[in-house]
Amino acid sequence: MSARDFGLSPEEKAALLRRMSERPPEAPPLRAPEPIEDLIDPQFRRDRDVIRAAGDALSLGDPFYRVHDGTAGAETAIGGRRFVNFSSYNYLGLNGDKRVIAAAKAALDRFGSSASASRIVSGERPVHRDLERGLADIHGAEDCLAFVGGHATNVTVIGHLFGAPDLILHDALAHNSMLQGAALSGARRMSFPHNDVAALDRLLATHRAGHRHAAILLEGHYSMDGDIPDLPAMIETARRHRARLMVDEAHALGTIGPRGFGLAEHFGIDPGAVDIWMGTLSKTLAGAGGYIASRAPLIEYLKFTAPGFVYSVGMAPPLAAASRAALDILRAEPERVARLNRNAARLRDGLAAHGVDTGASAGKSIVPVITGSSLAAGRLAHALFRRNINVQPILYPAVPERAARLRFFVTSEHSDEQIDGAVAAVAAEIAAIERDRIDPAALARRVGAAPRS
Ligand code: PMP
Repeated sequence: MSARDFGLSPEEKAALLRRMSERPPEAPPLRAPEPIEDLIDPQFRRDRDVIRAAGDALSLGDPFYRVHDGTAGAETAIGGRRFVNFSSYNYLGLNGDKRVIAAAKAALDRFGSSASASRIVSGERPVHRDLERGLADIHGAEDCLAFVGGHATNVTVIGHLFGAPDLILHDALAHNSMLQGAALSGARRMSFPHNDVAALDRLLATHRAGHRHAAILLEGHYSMDGDIPDLPAMIETARRHRARLMVDEAHALGTIGPRGFGLAEHFGIDPGAVDIWMGTLSKTLAGAGGYIASRAPLIEYLKFTAPGFVYSVGMAPPLAAASRAALDILRAEPERVARLNRNAARLRDGLAAHGVDTGASAGKSIVPVITGSSLAAGRLAHALFRRNINVQPILYPAVPERAARLRFFVTSEHSDEQIDGAVAAVAAEIAAIERDRIDPAALARRVGAAPRS
C-alpha cells in the first residue's frame, strides 16, 4: 500500500470512490413560508373582533393598553387629562414615594440597572438578600427567594416541586399563574368551588390516596373578587389529608391584616402552618417580581434547582432596592393599611347602599362592580372614563360572561371626595345604562356575532 492510497485497501478505495460519485439525495423543494396567522387560536380573533365591533358600534373606544403619563396611583394622567384612578396596584401609594425612588436611584448608581445573569453564576448584590430577609420576616418564614416575575414564580415553583405522581387541588378562582404551574408539573389537577372547604375536603377524601404529595393552592386575597379564604379551616383540612398548602399573597400583602402582613396576621395564626407563602413585588411593594417564603431547606432547594431561578437573571438591583424600601415603609407606617382598608370599605359600602352588586368583596382593597354582561361593563367603564374616572372593565373571556365587571383597585391615597364621587358616578351611570337598555342579542346581530352565555 503506497502513501497515495491514504491507508485504504483497494476495496475501501473503490467503495469511497463509489460513494463520492453518487448524487446527493434530492433536497425537498422550498415552500412558501407558513403564514404566521396559523399559530393564532381562531377563537382569539373571533373574540377580539366581536369586542372591537361592539365597541365601535357603541363608540366606546378601546379601554386596553392605555398610555399613562407619570406615576399611576389615586390619580393618573392619560392623553393630557387627569383622572381619578382605580386601576393601579399602588395600594399603599409607595410607587412614587420619594424614599422608594431614592433607594432605587442609589442602587442604580451603585450596581447599575441589571444583575446581568443568574445570581448562581454572576453573583448577587446586597439588596437581593436584604429584600429576601425582609420578606421572610413579614411572613414569619425561615427564608425567602425572589424571582424576576410574579407569574413566572408560580409557574416555575409549582411546576418544579410537583410531578406526575402528585395531586394538585386549586381554588376555582386561583390565578392563571398557579394553574399554569400545575399544568407544567404534570400532576393530576382538580379545582374545587371558590372558597368551598367542604368540597375540598370531599375531593381529598376521595382522591388523596394513591398520590405521593397533595397540594392545595389558594390566594390570600382574590384578585377578581376581593374576598379571602377561611385559612384556619383550609389548614385543618390540609393537615387531616396530609396535603401541602400554598397561599399566593400577591394582593394580600399590604392589604390584609392590621399591619398588612397578610392572611396569617388577619387570622392571628402561626404562619408556619402554611407550607409555602408566595407573593409579588408589583403591587404594594412598588417593584416587579415574585417570591417564595418558606422553610430554609425548601428555599435552598429552589435556589439550586428551580429552573425559573437558576436559569433566569437576578432581579434588577434598583427594583430589589425599591421593594426593600417599600417594605420598610409598610412596617413603619401601618396607618397606610388602615387608610386603605377604610377607603375600600367606604367604596364597597357606598356602592352597596345604591344597590350595586359588589360580590363578596371583603372591602380591603379590591371592589368589583358586577354588571352581569360584558356589554354593560364596557358601557359603564366608558361612561366613567368620560367623567374622568379610570377603572378597568373585565370582560368575557377573562371571566364568564355573567361575571363581567368593573374592578376597582383602591389606594390609601384616595380621598373621601374621590371615593364618594366614584360611588355617585357609578350609581348614576348604571341607572342610565338600565334606562337605555341595549339588547345584547340585537347588538350581536348588528356586529355579526353569536350571543355568548
Ligand atoms: N398571583 C396573583 C394572585 C396575581 O394577581 C398576579 C398578577 N397580578 C400574579 C400572581 C402575577 O404577578 P406579576 O403581575 O407580578 O407577575
